[in-house]
Amino acid sequence: MNKLKKWLISTLAAATLIAGSIILTKQKEESIKKEPIVLERTINFDNPQITLNDAFNSCKPEHLSEVIYDPDFKKSDDYIRKKFVGHSRRLIEGYLEQARIGAPGHALCVADIFEDVGDGKKRIAFARANITNSPEVLCPADLENAIYHEDIHAGEARHGYHFGGKIIRSKELAELFNKGEIRTGVIRAIGELDAYASQIERAEKTERKPSPIHIISATTNLYQVYSIIEKALTKNTLKPLEKKYAEEKIRRHKNAIETLKNFNSKN
Ligand SMILES: [Zn+2]
Repeated sequence: MNKLKKWLISTLAAATLIAGSIILTKQKEESIKKEPIVLERTINFDNPQITLNDAFNSCKPEHLSEVIYDPDFKKSDDYIRKKFVGHSRRLIEGYLEQARIGAPGHALCVADIFEDVGDGKKRIAFARANITNSPEVLCPADLENAIYHEDIHAGEARHGYHFGGKIIRSKELAELFNKGEIRTGVIRAIGELDAYASQIERAEKTERKPSPIHIISATTNLYQVYSIIEKALTKNTLKPLEKKYAEEKIRRHKNAIETLKNFNSKN
């Protein structure tokens, strides 16, 4: 059994144990002799920006310049408006709205526009108010790992999207979207597969481990997006470029995906 496999299975088993003990505690099961595992929240968000800066420094993201706490969307709205100078109001409003729609499931996000993809510049990530009470961010290592997820998205925005052997950037990328040769929802889902799998792979290597809850959340999300993409590949519903993009990511994370598939089929 390889290292990643061994580590992931033991972490998932621990998370299952924790979930089990919560249910039993809730039911006030008197006969339980073992102490229930306490889900301790050790991260402190009294000053969210300082907590984010600390996690940013320990994460050392390659493609992010900073993570800004932005609970009321003010800073990301300004950022998007500046980027879209000269574009239609409708387009700008659409992007602003999209940031709000995505916020509930994404406590952290990188805002980007196609025209800038591949410009080589580092990106800014924005943190939403729900980062401070997220059930998946219990300790500093969880936040560090969540920032790494954004670093993966930022890296792609910075250097361009890989379609098989070809990297596509900026206007060419925007054109493909406009022509319907690649679809936003599909590309986003495949990008999430990349980011979730990368989180799991990183957690295996780092000394300070994220909490089991954080890992089970990333693995569940990975499994969900993978299942959707796998189905689309089997049914052949992806456009040729989307297929290339998906296959490239799956190849890159073969190990983590195989581990999950095996774990799922046995449980
Ligand atoms: Zn993401």
